Amino acid sequence: MNVYLDIDGVIMANDREPARHVHEFLEYVVSKYQAYWLTTHCHGDLSYTTHHLSQWLKPETLKLAAKIRPTDWQVFKTEAIDWKIPFLWFDDQLFDFGKADLVKHRVLDSWIEVDFSRDVDQLQKIVRNFPRPAVSLNWQVAIWPGEINLTSWRNILILLAPAAEVKKEKITTDCILILGYR
Ligand SMILES: [Mg+2]
Repeated sequence: MNVYLDIDGVIMANDREPARHVHEFLEYVVSKYQAYWLTTHCHGDLSYTTHHLSQWLKPETLKLAAKIRPTDWQVFKTEAIDWKIPFLWFDDQLFDFGKADLVKHRVLDSWIEVDFSRDVDQLQKIVRNFPRPAVSLNWQVAIWPGEINLTSWRNILILLAPAAEVKKEKITTDCILILGYR
């Protein structure tokens, strides 16, 4: 899973103060997931982002931030999202186009609204109960005799293959039903 992070309103509570629990939050995210910046403070150049954050974050927190990869986008943040990989996107704002893009890809729930005006300790709560990404269910169904190469399938939910012979990643059977999603 990828995690996309805004800075203003997520890493920073305001112009001058880091968000509460930001160290704990980044520690959790970078240790478990591949994180990317998705912020106006990053357009492909990580040194610019790091320099900006170095004004506010403690050195130990900055070390965690250094593990976050840059993205580049021109007009809309969603340009930088890799739709093939489940993700969470932490941001305090979602503009119409971004929302439409998430809806189009059926992953609106992957956007996690961060709103410190409602809860200054939100990052701590996120770490304690980390959300799951929305998964776009592109269903695949296959019923046919023969051999199926399972490497083209991900997340197989149901596999009915009476008398199937499974060898490595291939199944040979007289009749097979696979229901899965990508
Ligand atoms: Mg923001």
